[in-house]
This record gives sequence, C-alpha cells and structure tokens, in this order.
Amino acid sequence: MQVEKDLTALRDRMDDPPAGVILLSDEDVHNEILLLEQSQALVNQLSRELGLFGYSLRSVTDSDGLIAALLDRPANAVIVDLDAAGSAEALEQLLIRVRDSSGRMLPVLGISHSNDFHTRLKAVRTGVASYLRPPIDPHDLVMELDLLTHRGVPDRLRVLLVESSSTRAAEYRTVLEGGGLAVTVVRQPEQAMVVLQEFSPDVILMAMYLDECTGAELARVIRQFPAHTTIPIVFLGPQTAMDRQLDAIGVGGDDFLSGPIHGSYLVRFVTIRAERGRKLRSLILTDNLTGLLNHSRIKEQLGKELARAERRGTPLAFAMVDLDYFKAVNDTYGHQAGDRVIKTMARLFKQRLRRSDYIGRYGGEEFAVIMPDSTAEDAKRTMDEIRNTFGRIGQVAWKGTFRASFSAGVAAFPEVGNPTELTRCADQALYDAKRNGRDRVVNYQAMVSNLSL
Ligand code: GH3
Ligand code: MG
Ligand code: MG
Repeated sequence: MQVEKDLTALRDRMDDPPAGVILLSDEDVHNEILLLEQSQALVNQLSRELGLFGYSLRSVTDSDGLIAALLDRPANAVIVDLDAAGSAEALEQLLIRVRDSSGRMLPVLGISHSNDFHTRLKAVRTGVASYLRPPIDPHDLVMELDLLTHRGVPDRLRVLLVESSSTRAAEYRTVLEGGGLAVTVVRQPEQAMVVLQEFSPDVILMAMYLDECTGAELARVIRQFPAHTTIPIVFLGPQTAMDRQLDAIGVGGDDFLSGPIHGSYLVRFVTIRAERGRKLRSLILTDNLTGLLNHSRIKEQLGKELARAERRGTPLAFAMVDLDYFKAVNDTYGHQAGDRVIKTMARLFKQRLRRSDYIGRYGGEEFAVIMPDSTAEDAKRTMDEIRNTFGRIGQVAWKGTFRASFSAGVAAFPEVGNPTELTRCADQALYDAKRNGRDRVVNYQAMVSNLSL
C-alpha cells in the first residue's frame, strides 16, 4: 500500500521516529485546504465557494491519496468526507498520526450525514476538531476553517512589562518573546501610562517594586482610566512583597507570580491572561454578531484617523455600506439567514481590506469603513471589488440558495474636511447608489461634480 511505502520512506529519513507518526515537511503554506471527497460536484462547489474567501482547495478521493498529497505538500487543514472515506480504520489511524513539522496534529474538519452521538464521538476520537453535516453551507465551513487555521488571530499577543531592573527585564523579554509574545519594556512608572495608549497591551506584567512607587500603586493609577479597567495585571516579585501589598492588589482580578518562575510556565501563564484580556476588550469594543468595531468605536476612530491624515497631509476615505433589499431577505428566508448574510459580509470585508483599515458595524445592516491613505477613487475601486465577490457568494437558506448585494457611498479627505461632513457626504452618496438601482458604489465627489455639470 502507498501509505506503508511512504511511511517506510519517512522512517528512513528520521533519526528517531516516534511510533507511527507521519511528520510533514515544514514548507510554508498559506490558506491551503486538502479535501477528501469522492463527489466531483461537491469538490467543484467547495473549491469555488472557498476560493471566494481566500482559501485554495486540493482534493483527493481516498486515504492513500490524502497522505500522498500531504507528503507532497502540507496543508493548513484537512476536510474529510467521513461517509465517502468509508470511515475506514486506516483513515482514523492516519488522521491521528499525521503531524506538522513541529509535531502538532493538522486541524481536521469532518463532513458526515450521521447525526448520532456514536458517530460524533468516533469523529472526536479520530481527531476531528469540527463536524459539519450536508448540505454544507459555505458560510459555516469558512467560519470553521477560520477558527481551525487561526485566520481570525491577526496579531501576536502584546505584553507590557514594567520593571526597573534592566537585567530582569531582559530575562523576561527573552523568555516571553521566545514564546511568541510581543513585548514592550518600560522602566519608569510614568512612561507606562504613555505606552499603554500606543501599544495597547493585552496584559501588563509589573514588578512589585518600581523606582518611584510600588507596582500596586501604579496599578491603581492605571485603573483610574476607564479604558484600562479590563487589562489583566500580573505582579512579579518575592512572596514577602506580595503579602505586604496584598490589600492593594488582587482587587481587579489581578494575579501574582512569585519566583523562581520556569520559562515555559511563565509563557503559558502570561499567554492565558493575555488571551483573556484581549477577549474582554473585544467584547466591549466590538459587535457581537460580526466581531467588527461597534458604532461608537468606529466614530471615535474616524476622528483619530482624520486628525492623523491632516497632520501627515495624507488622504483618507470613508465608506458607508448598506445591504440591498434586506427586509425582503429577512421576509423571504428568515431572520437567521439574514444574520448569516451580515456575518458573511463582515468576513469578506475583513479578508479584503488592509490591516490599517477599520471596519465597523454602524447599525443593523449598515457598515462603515475607514481607509487611511486612500483616495475616494482607491476606495471606490476596492469596494467595487468586494461588491463583485459578495454578489457571487451563494447564501444558503432552508428555502434554497440566494445571492445578496450591497450599495456603498464613498467620501474622502481632503475634499471633505471633518468627521461629521464625511459621514454626511458618504451617506448621501449611499442614498444616490440606492436610488440608481442598488448593487453599486458611488463616489461623493464624482456625484457632485456630475450634478454641477
Ligand atoms: P434598501 O435596499 O433600501 O437598503 O432596502 P432594505 O430592505 O435593506 O431597507 P432598510 O435598509 O431600511 O432595511 C433594513 C432592514 O434590515 C430592516 C431589518 O429588518 C433588517 N435588519 C437590520 N438589522 C438586522 C440584523 O441584525 N439581522 C437581520 N437579520 N436583519 C436586520
Ligand atoms: Mg439600512
Ligand atoms: Mg438596506
């Protein structure tokens, strides 16, 4: 059997192979999915749908093919049609043994018609991290793949370290950075306040004794700012100092670490707190359904970005977006289907816009996008591209598949000079797009110059 041959070849290559483990090469792949599926129609459909969301799909028809394809070139995740694979024992064994170059299991998403507990349990034991039943809704599939491949996690977790000893600071930094965290070190308590704004850490690590004050005191100053109330603070220092300052700390769910602290434990401890800190912050700042910035946050950001554009003399575009005939979508396919259209749209915006852009859910089915360094023409071009892709996505509802569209209005600085006017002009352009038939993007500047002709 091919698998056996590959395994033997692999064992020969490895000095000390762990029993039965198949290590894949460390070739860097990006958004590549391997699919085990026998129905060519489903392969074609998924390939097209996933392509719209930035994933590329390779497919194989059996487990031998699967392992051969993975050895040829690794993938970021594997989708297995558990029914089509005949749920062969070989496949189950295989999925558990396939590891990436650092020994982690590949994320596996299973597709099966069965809905009984035992099939699901078996899937779990096979190493299937996520389970979907046909008919496969591309939206669900993409969300699962995003989760499994960590597409949704854009940046490293950020740690602010406040420590007056440069030797200790350097030690912590080395360990934490080695564990994949981004670290900024501050020696003076006062400086911490400045860095908090710009670095926006997910967790603060703070020595108990600082130059000017104690760690507990600095923590209380930080907590005086409503924007900083959710950042987890971890105090570092000797147990005696902890005991002495116990009254002052531990009030805001803060934590202590007293030495000596093992490197990998420190990384895990800090990572968990940072993840929690980031989650808390995103719950406060973002919309529940879409994870986009909420209304007040996007307005605040527009003010900040505009001030920056003025300072630097660079352009800035602002777009208002509204789904077309959305009442009809809800009436025909149900509110739940409507919600999924909104989520799909949010996902597409996140995928297509740049990291420096800001996307917010402005209201129910309205979105706002801030694009620094973009002219109105740039913004219109980008929005038109997104609009074209969006129109090709099949939205699945129990009644059948449908297509949705949106309209957008774009206005830009320096032609328009302040946040209120930018919003008003973009809104007016959006209204024009609606009036002229929807499924289009209107540039405010082009609109008014047409009117004045
Ligand atoms: P138009 O093309 O003119 O925008 O038509 P429209 O039907 O989309 O009109 P309008 O923007 O006024 O309608 C908004 C509708 O969107 C009303 C409401 O039922 C629906 N809606 C708003 N928020 C949500 C939401 O969070 N989920 C769902 N499913 N529907 C929403
Ligand atoms: Mg609306
Ligand atoms: Mg609408």
